Amino acid sequence: MSAEGTKRVYFFKPGQADGRTEMKELLGGKGANLAEMSNVGLPVPAGFTLTTQTCADFYTAGRQWPEGLEEEMDANIAMLEETTGRKLGDKDDPLLVSVRSGAAVSMPGMMDTVLNLGMNDESVQGLAAQSGDERFAWDCYRRFILMFGNVAMGVPHRLFDEILTREREKAGVEFDSQLSAEQLKGIVAEYKQIYKDSTGEEFPAEPKAQLRRAIDAVFGSWHNPQAIRYREINEIRGLRGTAVNVQTMVFGNMGHTSFTGVGFTRDPATGENTLYGEYLVNAQGEDVVAGIRTPKNINDMPNEDLADFPGAEISAEEAGELYGRMHAQIIDIKHKLEEHYTDMQDFEFTGQQGTLYMLQTRTGKRTAQAAVAIAVDLKNEDFIDKTTAVMRVDPNQIEQLLHKQFNEDDKARAESEGRLLATGLPASPGAAVGKIALSAADAEAMAAVEAEKSDGIGIILVREETSPEDIGGMDAAVGILTARGGMTSHAAVVARGMGKCCVAGCSAVRPDVKAKKVTIAGQEFAEGDVISLDGSLGQVIAGAIAQEDPEMTGAFGILMEWAEDYRDMGVWANADTPHDAQAALDFGAEGIGLCRTEHMFFEEERIAFVRQMMLTAPDVRRVQRELDAAEFAAGQVAGAERGELQEKVDEISKELATHRTIYDGALDKLLPAQREDFEGIFRVMDGLPVVIRLLDPPLHEFLPHVAEVQARLGEQMGIPAQDVAARVNELRELNPMLGHRGCRLGLIYPDVYAMQVRAIMEAAVNVVKEGVQVHPEIMIPLVATAEELRVTRDSAEKICQDVLSTADVTVDYTIGTMIEIPRAALTADQVAEYADFFSFGTNDLTQMTFGFSRDDVGVFVPEYVEKEILEHDPFQVLDQSGVGQLVRMGVEKGRQTKPGLKIGICGEHGGEPRSVKFCHSVGMNYVSCSPFRVPVARLAAAQAAIEAKA
Ligand code: PEP
Ligand code: MG
Repeated sequence: MSAEGTKRVYFFKPGQADGRTEMKELLGGKGANLAEMSNVGLPVPAGFTLTTQTCADFYTAGRQWPEGLEEEMDANIAMLEETTGRKLGDKDDPLLVSVRSGAAVSMPGMMDTVLNLGMNDESVQGLAAQSGDERFAWDCYRRFILMFGNVAMGVPHRLFDEILTREREKAGVEFDSQLSAEQLKGIVAEYKQIYKDSTGEEFPAEPKAQLRRAIDAVFGSWHNPQAIRYREINEIRGLRGTAVNVQTMVFGNMGHTSFTGVGFTRDPATGENTLYGEYLVNAQGEDVVAGIRTPKNINDMPNEDLADFPGAEISAEEAGELYGRMHAQIIDIKHKLEEHYTDMQDFEFTGQQGTLYMLQTRTGKRTAQAAVAIAVDLKNEDFIDKTTAVMRVDPNQIEQLLHKQFNEDDKARAESEGRLLATGLPASPGAAVGKIALSAADAEAMAAVEAEKSDGIGIILVREETSPEDIGGMDAAVGILTARGGMTSHAAVVARGMGKCCVAGCSAVRPDVKAKKVTIAGQEFAEGDVISLDGSLGQVIAGAIAQEDPEMTGAFGILMEWAEDYRDMGVWANADTPHDAQAALDFGAEGIGLCRTEHMFFEEERIAFVRQMMLTAPDVRRVQRELDAAEFAAGQVAGAERGELQEKVDEISKELATHRTIYDGALDKLLPAQREDFEGIFRVMDGLPVVIRLLDPPLHEFLPHVAEVQARLGEQMGIPAQDVAARVNELRELNPMLGHRGCRLGLIYPDVYAMQVRAIMEAAVNVVKEGVQVHPEIMIPLVATAEELRVTRDSAEKICQDVLSTADVTVDYTIGTMIEIPRAALTADQVAEYADFFSFGTNDLTQMTFGFSRDDVGVFVPEYVEKEILEHDPFQVLDQSGVGQLVRMGVEKGRQTKPGLKIGICGEHGGEPRSVKFCHSVGMNYVSCSPFRVPVARLAAAQAAIEAKA
């Protein structure tokens, strides 16, 4: 322990460890699990872990070791030497260690690792004696200089590679493994020279000095660009830094009785309960992950006959026996791990001359499909209870299951047309269609261009193999295709984590990055050409395949059913069309929480009449006011004077009639169209509530800005094109989102809202007559004061009563408002006087609370998040401490006035799991979100109920 009493280094050896699995924050995921595996008695090579706090203190001290660390390290090195019976740098039987990063949250491949540490001119002799293989010892030494030089001192990999290539050519051999001990000795000397030339110092022979530098490098890699980017993309924040694990090396490359591999206790792609993984004979760990040699299926171990290794030191029969025994031991470890952790584990193992070691275990990354299947299976196998199963699945992740899949017929057609190009490994399921990009940078740039287009499509990143630097491109892509690498290669692991479709190790793919071309099974494609990927089958298909909506069946259906046992808050959907309403119902929505009527206005045949209505509305209003004034004036006088004024009244009336003809003409066209829309939605939602919001956006959003369209509109309205242009200009606002929109439109141009309310009520009457049950809830947007709501509500009530007075059925309707302006939340007790319900419009509420324009945040919010000025984009994740206060206050004040007031949310946050949990905590009756997020919200709401009771 250091002077100030902070324990910085935690020791572990089989059967005994200072740490525990719960100490992830301090020891990192890897360190905590190495400790836990040691405690469980699994065969873990001994070692020790430097805490994440030490990393934080290292940075605080200006990249210096904090006080006391040196002494603690010395004590732990001494313990390690005692445990293993070996000494660092020993010329007879040296101790060699690995130095690896390991944060509290797994960041695969993003930070640095140094292996074989402790190699020098003396220990190389010792290792040769220990392994009985001089060639092996010198190869380890060579690898160490390379890795140490590159990681700790930044010597470019390329410089070392050039030497190796040259020496191979000189020796006339194809593979490194064919170089002799003597040749490797020469390479070691050259590597040392490169090191010296690049760094200006001799290669450090002293193992403790090597260790110190390696630890500094691992700490330093916490802030390397790809690690920073990975944390950004995965929203990993608030961590102290990385832990460093120093562990006795075991060698999977000590001949053909040695091997290395990675395993999952269940299939991470499908969730199937079967050992899953890969191994490589005579290899080191990074050979598997880097995807340089294609590994073998772990379940083929018992059939290993070393046929690929002529001249191996054991016979085929001996190999079968040894690898069969190793496989049985791994199966046994699979059971032990699952029993102990009660979850699917992802582990790394190495066999050194016939002895199996466990190097790592952690909760395995999995696809959404596997996450759901595993949670359901573990409950059915009695590992966990139902509540735990519901809590196990991240609601954000299940959105992946709601993505589109390929239309079977279209796919069959593509196959019969010979468009199925090749099959690789089904590394991450799902379907993707997109344009080929051959580099991560191109993928990012092309995705940005596509996002700007109304008919933009996705990007498929095609690479030889991916590396951590490709993370931005992988994030921008909808699918990933690699030529090399296995199911546990970087591409596969990262894609699964991102929930992206991935086909890996497809050897028919030959990318040529320079020429921006790729050959797939002999067929040439240019960057930008479209291909489709089926990540569940590993298929690569030329051209686009039609996609369709997924279904909630199998384990997904079961889990969602279990979730229903806990959920006590409603989940509704935002839907503007019968089609969307049906999709929402299929996903379990219990109502429509927001139907944005303006979306219906954009339909091709309607927009011209919407424009006609909007362009004449100001004239109608102006002339009506003139008429009112003239009539008033005429009423004040008598005789000849009155006659004169009356003439003026008649003249103005005529002008009004002209405008009204055009205005009412448009409204008359729109009324039946809207009525039909509402009838369609009511029929689908039979018996369930439907909240319909009256027109909300600023008028100018609908207006034509192109001369040709203005001319056509002028023709329709019987006015010159320049008059249209002039009126469009008049309606221009400097700050439209804070301008004439929402209920302000309804108050200034009452006919528009009157038409909409009439359409809603007439539609309701019509479908009630068909036997449909309807509960229309008319929602008035953008209310800031109770008075705005009172007046708007009064007008709406009159129309409702008018419609019902001539109908021979009754309709049960309500009128409520959105709370989306801070003032409405602050005065919610007054607003509630006139509202039958509240629905929080947290998009606008966020905009107005932060003073961030929702349409312009792209310019600065991402950088705010990157710089941690904001924890999240507040338009995606509800800002609980700021905007949330207004929401909480709005709920409380509203219910002070009306205790039973029904309250929901319809901003984008209604489908975001953390925000859903917040809505539950303030006592909302329901959340409303886009149809495809309904299952996400249902699961989040169930988890909220479970957490609230815990
Ligand atoms: C809101 O403001 O949260 C809302 C749902 O309305 P819109 O996004 O249509 O402004
Ligand atoms: Mg709004």
